[in-house]
Amino acid sequence: MPMRYAMAIDTKKCVGCSDCVVACQTENHVPIGYCRDWIVEVMDGTYPQLEIELRSERCNHCTNSPCVRCCPTGASHYAEGGLVLVTKNKCIGCAACIASCPYDARYSHPDGYVDKCTFCEDRLKQGMKPACVSVCPTKCLYFGDLDDPRSEVSEILKVRKWKRLIPEAGTNPNLFFLI
Ligand code: SF4
Ligand code: SF4
Ligand code: SF4
Repeated sequence: MPMRYAMAIDTKKCVGCSDCVVACQTENHVPIGYCRDWIVEVMDGTYPQLEIELRSERCNHCTNSPCVRCCPTGASHYAEGGLVLVTKNKCIGCAACIASCPYDARYSHPDGYVDKCTFCEDRLKQGMKPACVSVCPTKCLYFGDLDDPRSEVSEILKVRKWKRLIPEAGTNPNLFFLI
């Protein structure tokens, strides 16, 4: 059965606490000083009608990803459910993928390969939600299969307005920001 993992991030409920960032660093042994997800704060409007948009961002697991296309070794690849992953021992650390990503979602791991969000692939295999989703105190992260109309991510996208980031890049991202 086809499957496409996606995440929806509620910018109205996010309080910018960074619990998602810390949970990810712990779960995925991200080295100190690096991260796979991060918080973006964008000020919108003019005084006194100012609004702050808070976004928990990570790799978009793009359906048309330049990082997979440009990888010379096949280390960056698509996996089940549309996950975009990096095979550590095939990666030569050339950083072509880092340069190609419009979302700045990858970093060079000190051990010589490139790392990024995996949608917590290991947890998914065990039937669990990604670490960032499960710890969020405001429950503002929704995760699931876009091809299943009853998944929590599909249900929330039916009832809320949303946007994707940098759509003009043509990457067909699978992160949806509820606005
Ligand atoms: Fe690749 Fe960047 Fe898209 Fe993630 S967000 S799949 S690293 S192009
Ligand atoms: Fe591929 Fe690694 Fe080079 Fe990125 S750094 S393009 S994953 S070999
Ligand atoms: Fe980190 Fe997993 Fe969340 Fe991706 S899905 S940002 S790897 S905790």
